[in-house]
Amino acid sequence: MRIGCPKEIKTHEYRVGLTPESAAELVGRGHEVIVEHDAGAGIGAEDAAYEAVGARIADVETVFAEAEIVVKVKEPQAVERKRLRAGQTLYTYLHLAPDLDQTEDLLASGATCIAYETVTAPGGGLPLLRPMSQVAGRMSVQAGAHALEKAQGGRGVLLGGVPGVLPGRVVVIGGGVVGRNAAAMAVGLGADVTVLDRSHDVLEDLDAQFGGRVKTLYSTATNLRQEVCAADLVIGAVLIPGAAAPKLVKREMLGDMQPGAVIVDVAIDQGGCFETSRATTHTDPTYIEEGIVHYCVANMPGGVARTSTYALNNATLPHLLRLADRGVKDALAADPHLLAGLNVAAGKLACPPVGEAQNRDS
Ligand code: NAD
Repeated sequence: MRIGCPKEIKTHEYRVGLTPESAAELVGRGHEVIVEHDAGAGIGAEDAAYEAVGARIADVETVFAEAEIVVKVKEPQAVERKRLRAGQTLYTYLHLAPDLDQTEDLLASGATCIAYETVTAPGGGLPLLRPMSQVAGRMSVQAGAHALEKAQGGRGVLLGGVPGVLPGRVVVIGGGVVGRNAAAMAVGLGADVTVLDRSHDVLEDLDAQFGGRVKTLYSTATNLRQEVCAADLVIGAVLIPGAAAPKLVKREMLGDMQPGAVIVDVAIDQGGCFETSRATTHTDPTYIEEGIVHYCVANMPGGVARTSTYALNNATLPHLLRLADRGVKDALAADPHLLAGLNVAAGKLACPPVGEAQNRDS
């Protein structure tokens, strides 16, 4: 099979669909890999690294024209969608539900489009989203610790404290993948960590995992207010699948928080769980409102493109190998979890939730 990997062209996207190591796995199984010139530059993978494992470097037209499977990271941009064709498979994040233009173009292309974010796993969950939540969760503490410095507008608190001075208080709202990874980092720094969640299973798992190093608290409005108002760093990590994030912290509550405290709203990609959150970028990640520093970067993993690319490839490669080895049709037929990733096939929508969101047949 011929696998193509173009360079990402969305603004500030430095990740790449295939690492040289993933390309090597494909070549080792007898597949042909074509990588666009400079596709890996954003993660420090030069063309020579791909050539060294047997991949061919080409221009973008050649990659799209010759590839049977196109492997990417972000949803195809308009210019890329024009290059897709019937008989070709696109394997990438799509996030189609709110994106009518992209849906129209993918339907018109005739291509088979598999979305990372809807591939499922035998044990439940969304395994190709998980690594990005892990990255964002771990990064949230790093970003919050930096924002707490005085020069960044923060209250000048070192999360780990020092002997004789209490550590900073970190409150994590939502103990799922993001929350658990944030808690692990905060504990690692020596902070005083509390996680709030509404799921008893999640609270029990956290308690078992951290053995008392993390305090757990059921997420009621009263508990939430009390913890948020005493915190140095609050991390928003809630998710209600398929819905906008609930606004759990209202503007009026900010006045009762400690001046210079920091909010990191990881859930900003679902609208955010703080009423005062608005999406920011890596070039200008924070702003101050009501005396509270807000960090609301919507694509946090993009800031650590190298780690994120490798984490993503670890999750996407096994399915890609099956698609290439067995052929797309057979691989999809053999695995209901991969089939759950099929969003568009031969001009038809193949993902019921996207159909429902857009009021079309699927
Ligand atoms: P998850 O489903 O693993 O965890 C969400 C948790 O929120 C669950 O444990 C759930 O019980 C809990 N929850 C729901 N309502 C709650 C409430 N009222 N109070 C407390 N807890 C509540 O989801 P995840 O993978 O951890 O993702 C969390 C959010 O982070 C999502 O919105 C996701 O899209 C986002 N995210 C953002 C970035 C970014 O770059 N900004 C990157 C990755 C993920």
